[in-house]
Amino acid sequence: MDKLHHIVVVGGGAGGLELVTGLGNKLGKKRKARITLVDAGLTHVWKPLLHEVASGSLDANANEINYRAHARKHHYEFQLGRMSGLDRTANDFGTPGAQDNCLFLDSLPALPARLSAAATREFEHQKVQVLTGQPVSEVLEASIIMKDRTELPSEMTIWAAGIKAQAAHQQADTLFKTLCNRLENGEAVPFVYNDHGSLINFSRYTTVGNLMGNLSGRSMYIEGKVARLFYLSLYRMHQVALHGMLRTGIIWLMDKISRAMHPRLKLH
Ligand SMILES: Cc1cc2nc3c(=O)[nH]c(=O)nc-3n(C[C@H](O)[C@H](O)[C@H](O)COP(=O)(O)OP(=O)(O)OC[C@H]3O[C@@H](n4cnc5c(N)ncnc54)[C@H](O)[C@@H]3O)c2cc1C
Repeated sequence: MDKLHHIVVVGGGAGGLELVTGLGNKLGKKRKARITLVDAGLTHVWKPLLHEVASGSLDANANEINYRAHARKHHYEFQLGRMSGLDRTANDFGTPGAQDNCLFLDSLPALPARLSAAATREFEHQKVQVLTGQPVSEVLEASIIMKDRTELPSEMTIWAAGIKAQAAHQQADTLFKTLCNRLENGEAVPFVYNDHGSLINFSRYTTVGNLMGNLSGRSMYIEGKVARLFYLSLYRMHQVALHGMLRTGIIWLMDKISRAMHPRLKLH
C-alpha cells in the first residue's frame, strides 16, 4: 500500500500551479509525498495577460501551459475535474441580476489615488468613458441600472468589482514552506502579506504604477518604459517559478523571434 502523504491542490492558477511545481520538484521527485493538481481546465494561462489575449495582441495557444505535460516534467499528477464542495465567496455584493447577466473577472486591489488618476486620464485619452461614485443597483440582460435609476445599455457586462489582494504568489510560497515543514513535523509558517505596489498596463500605449520601498514603506510612482519593464518582469518571474531560469530564457528568446516574424495582432 502507498504510505506516502498525498497533497491535493485544487486550482492550477497563479498560486496553485506555482505551489504544485515547487512541491513536485522538492517532494514528488524524491518520492517524499504524492502531489495531485485538480483543475476544471486542461491548460493554464496567466490571468494578467488575458487583456492582451482578448485584444488579439497575444496568442493564447503560445502562452498556455498544458497541465498534463507540465505535471510529467515536475513530478506531480494532474486530474481534470471541477470541485463542487466549496463555495467561492461572491464579490457581487448581492447586486440583483449580477450572477445571471455578467461575465466575472477576478478583480484587482484598490489603487492609490495618484495611480487611479493616471489610469483614468489614460482611459479618457483612449476614449473610454469612466463613471465613478455611482453604485450599480441592478444588472439586466442588456443594460445596467445605476443607483440614481439611470440606465446604461450594455451588450456584454463584465463584473470586475470587489477588492482582492494580489497575494496568490506569496500564499503559494508560504504554503510550500509550511507543507515541507509539516512533513518533517515542523511549524506552520505564518502568512504575512507584503505589498510590493501595483502596476497598470495599457498594452503598448503606456504603463503606470507605484513600487513600495521594502525598508521605508513609502511608495514611488513610475510610468512609461520603466513601469512596463517591471510589469513584464512579473510574468517572467511567474515563468521562472514554473519552468526554471534556463527554460524561461529560451521562452523569452522564442517570444522575441515570434514577435519579429508575426503580425502584432492575432488576425484569426
Ligand atoms: C484580466 C485580469 C488581469 C489581472 N491583472 C493582474 C495584475 O496585473 N496584477 C495582479 O497582481 N493581479 C492581476 N489579476 C489578478 C490575478 O490574476 C489573480 O489574483 C490571480 O490569478 C489569482 O490566483 P489564484 O491562483 O488564486 O487563482 P486563478 O489564477 O484565478 O486560478 C484559479 C484556477 O482554479 C481553477 N478552478 C476554479 N474553480 C475550480 C473548481 N471548482 N474545481 C477545479 N478547478 C477550479 C480554474 O480553472 C483556474 O485554473 C488579474 C486578473 C484578471 C482576470
